[in-house]
Amino acid sequence: MILARTREELRDALSHESSVGFVPTMGALHAGHRTLIESSVDENICTVVSIFVNPTQFSPTEDLSKYPRPLDADLELCEAAGVNIVFLPTADVLYTEEEVWIDVPSVSNGYEGDSRPTHFRGVATIVAKLLLLTQPNRAYFGLKDLQQCAVVRSLVAGLFLPVDLRFVETVRESSGLALSSRNAYFAPDERQRASYLYQSLRILASELIAAHDSRLTAISKYKSILSKAGFTVEYLDVVDPATMRATDQLTAARLVVAAKFCGVRLIDNIPIHP
Ligand code: AMP
Repeated sequence: MILARTREELRDALSHESSVGFVPTMGALHAGHRTLIESSVDENICTVVSIFVNPTQFSPTEDLSKYPRPLDADLELCEAAGVNIVFLPTADVLYTEEEVWIDVPSVSNGYEGDSRPTHFRGVATIVAKLLLLTQPNRAYFGLKDLQQCAVVRSLVAGLFLPVDLRFVETVRESSGLALSSRNAYFAPDERQRASYLYQSLRILASELIAAHDSRLTAISKYKSILSKAGFTVEYLDVVDPATMRATDQLTAARLVVAAKFCGVRLIDNIPIHP
């Protein structure tokens, strides 16, 4: 496994590769990341994983400095999963004096975009830079970050980037809690209780299918149930994942939620029809 820290080292490592799969990450790798990596290893001759905690997708009030950075464990996971190249840039490798921003407003507004106004500009900019540097045949993203998938899809289509995107379903703990690097902030009992978020989504999805209540009534009922269970809900809605707009058409829709629990911000989403 090659470690590339500069753009030149990445270019040299990639120079003879014919089929490249790319998995961008912020490190603190877990079984969710591993699933993306394994998909890439299955489908490509060479798999590149980037580990970069991208400062521009954090707001000044967010957890950039305390974001976990267990590099040795991350490299072990990559090696064991069959990764060929790990790209480990510092911020100055990716953010040069030529300041460039990429915005994808069509799908960046609403939901995460409302809660974190500059987040998707940071995501779109860094994903574009990483795709241009790596020039992969395929790139892998987790549906856990549903709106990020919509942003990346629009970014790639709008910039005519020649890459096949693969979106991978969320990997969960046995409790149902979506795996996330931020779960490390929970005490063990909090982590168990946090799975109530996913369980609520499942029940809400089945109630929407049964159509006892309208979408808005059902959502407002579950906001209040979650709030009584200690969750501060930022949003809970039924969205069309292609447009990231609220919808009453349930067939391809997903339930999306963001909530704070014991000081940790959680996001999750599930298809309404499993
Ligand atoms: P991150 O390191 O949080 O930026 O995530 C890197 C990639 O892993 C993104 O495409 C995420 O959507 C994906 N990912 C994060 N958590 C999960 C999960 N539980 N299941 C599947 N993919 C995930």
